[in-house]
Amino acid sequence: MTFKAEYIWIDGTEPTAKLRSKTKILADDAKGAELPIWGFDGSSTNQAEGHASDRVLKPVATYPDPIRGGDDVLVMCEVLNIDMTPHESNTRATLAEVEEKFGAQEPIFGIEQEYTFFKGSRPLGFPEGGFPAAQGGYYCGVGSDEIFGRDVVEAHLENCLKAGLGISGINAEVMPGQWEFQVGPLAPLEVSDQLWVARWLLYRTAEDFGVSATLDPKPVKGDWNGAGAHTNFSTKAMREGYDAIITACESLGEGSKPLDHVKNYGAGIDDRLTGLHETAPWNEYSYGVSNRGASVRIPWQVEKDGKGYIEDRRPNANVDPYVVTRLLVDTCCSALEKAGQV
Ligand code: ADP
Ligand code: MN
Ligand code: MN
Ligand code: MN
Repeated sequence: MTFKAEYIWIDGTEPTAKLRSKTKILADDAKGAELPIWGFDGSSTNQAEGHASDRVLKPVATYPDPIRGGDDVLVMCEVLNIDMTPHESNTRATLAEVEEKFGAQEPIFGIEQEYTFFKGSRPLGFPEGGFPAAQGGYYCGVGSDEIFGRDVVEAHLENCLKAGLGISGINAEVMPGQWEFQVGPLAPLEVSDQLWVARWLLYRTAEDFGVSATLDPKPVKGDWNGAGAHTNFSTKAMREGYDAIITACESLGEGSKPLDHVKNYGAGIDDRLTGLHETAPWNEYSYGVSNRGASVRIPWQVEKDGKGYIEDRRPNANVDPYVVTRLLVDTCCSALEKAGQV
């Protein structure tokens, strides 16, 4: 007997990388064992030149495959060169170093992934050649005049749960056809691997319904909300006291930090962070309690309890989770260490 392993990896498409996958048939004795490395043609994924095209897929995490079922698995991989060094597109390897360095502070993340369904060239729910009623009633709405694609969303949620992903919720968003799921709270590598797999499952699930999903941060220009990936973050010290919460918020505003972060928070971020539609302008850093117009929000119950987490509202829907979690851990954990608040 054999089983199927779907090897999933992140390609080298610029400015926003895409997911790729292919199937490996494995003999039964590979079950439960460490899965083998594999290879692919990097010249077809913007990860190599044709004359030296081989790249290596190294499994980093395995999940039950909810679509094929049985003993089949989804295998999240990182991309290596043939000398087994990380490929330049491999942002996971750098996160692994930073997690190792600051792991004692116990950083965890919950990422809110917003996305938009498209049917042909229009968002699901947008009438041919026109626009739906203005935003206002769609967020967390109910009823066929407000909700578009719930069958796909439910199937995706079910698939994520069957795969054992740490999904913490779903909701309909402000623009019709726009939705959100949340992954976490989990450690940096774990939340990032799982978010990539949840994205793959989203595209794969939607395929069966004849719709596509996009992480485009501003899928409709004009007076329609963009799509973000609010990144909720805490360390042990932040979960125990308010001083650490403030230190983290302040550290994100120091010197070149606001720009260092924002320019790595997803392509097209200046189109989304305009200061309108519950965003702060991309070039002005601010934080505040309950403030959805700030770069970083401290939830009201965090102020009330005097401990908890912060929400970085800036990352685009198309952000690389390996990058946003690395930057937040690096900036905030360095500052907490310096302040002796660990
Ligand atoms: P919002 O009110 O901004 O829509 P959500 O409920 O969509 O918030 O998402 C909040 C996310 O924060 C969830 O994924 C949740 O698991 C995560 N979260 C909760 N507590 C913490 C914590 N202490 N550290 C990091 N993330 C957390
Ligand atoms: Mn949310
Ligand atoms: Mn949201
Ligand atoms: Mn949020």
